[in-house]
Parts: sequence; structure tokens; C-alpha cells
Amino acid sequence: MKIICVGRNYTAHAKELGNNIPDEPVIFMKPKSALLQSHTPFYYPEFTNQLDYECELVLRVCKNGKYIQERHATNYYNAVTVGIDFTARDIQDDLKAKGLPWEKAKAFDNSAAIGKFVDITPALNKMNINFSLYKNKELVQQANSSQMIFSFDHIISHISNYFSLNIGDLVFTGTPAGVGECVVGDDLEAFIEKEMLLKMEIK
Ligand code: ZN
Repeated sequence: MKIICVGRNYTAHAKELGNNIPDEPVIFMKPKSALLQSHTPFYYPEFTNQLDYECELVLRVCKNGKYIQERHATNYYNAVTVGIDFTARDIQDDLKAKGLPWEKAKAFDNSAAIGKFVDITPALNKMNINFSLYKNKELVQQANSSQMIFSFDHIISHISNYFSLNIGDLVFTGTPAGVGECVVGDDLEAFIEKEMLLKMEIK
């Protein structure tokens, strides 16, 4: 499996980092070794001094495909959860300034935390999913899938023009405004609607 991530998919977040609003999805990837399953400990990486959380809706791919048309894209994912795209922001800022690739800042071990998946059923209107992140019981990020610049279907279609999608692949769909730093001892809890799907502590 692979992990595909979308950057700058919420206007307010793009602005808070001083980035332009993209005219097509910004895509990057994380390797399988980046996946942090729930209930696995997360240790603060030694190479960074600014570890940021980015809470995101994460899709799970359920069908193999490439060159997927947007109108068929909904058939290619069947579950959603909340995840955290951990980012070594100091490293990323340094790499961005030099025009270098982001992987050291974004794709390190355990940098892709995911919660428990919920099935996408007609009852869950995927265009209207509320999600949120609490740090030490304080609300730090809150958004709705309707605020995404590029919809789930557009993202799936776009990615599949470049990378074949396979069953079990995960797609991080971008973070809203409110990203910030976490430190050792912080407790993170992420929700879809009122259901807590991810709970973890920075060790
Ligand atoms: Zn992200």
C-alpha cells in the first residue's frame, strides 16, 4: 500500500502558511513505513524542533484503478477516518527555501497517524463531514469537507492520472487552518462528527 497526501486543500490553511491557492491538487507521498496504526506509540522525532500536527480526513481505496473519471471516482473509496499528517515544519521550511523535496519533513516513520475507519454509506454525506482535533482537550482544528478546494472525487481522479490506485491505499485529503506545534506529553484526539476515532499521546 501507499499513502498519498494532498497539500493546501483548504484556503485558510494555505494562507496561514503563506502559500498561494493551488489551481490543481498539490500531491506528495509517504511510504508504508510512515503509517502509525492506532494504539501504537508515537515518539517525538529527534531531528526536529518543530513538530506540527495536521488533522485531515483520510480515505481508504477499495478498488484498483487508473485514469479514473471524476464521475466514477466515488466507487474507488469506501471508508473515511481522521488522520494526522505529522510535519517537521522547521525541516520543511528549510527544504522549501532551498527548493528541495519535502520527504524528510513529511514522510518519516510514523508520520501518518490514522484513526478507526468508518464506512462511507449514504447516511454519511461525504460532502458534509465535520471533523475536529483536540490537543490536551482544547479544540485546535475544526472544519467541514465542503470547505475543501478539491473534492474527494476530484482528488481521486487527479491522483489516478499519475499513480495507479490500489486496494488499501490511503489518501490524506489536506488540513484546514489551525495547524500548530505539539510537544512531548501532548494528548491528541480527533473526531468525525461526535465520534472520537483517533486518540494518541506524543511520547
Ligand atoms: Zn497535510
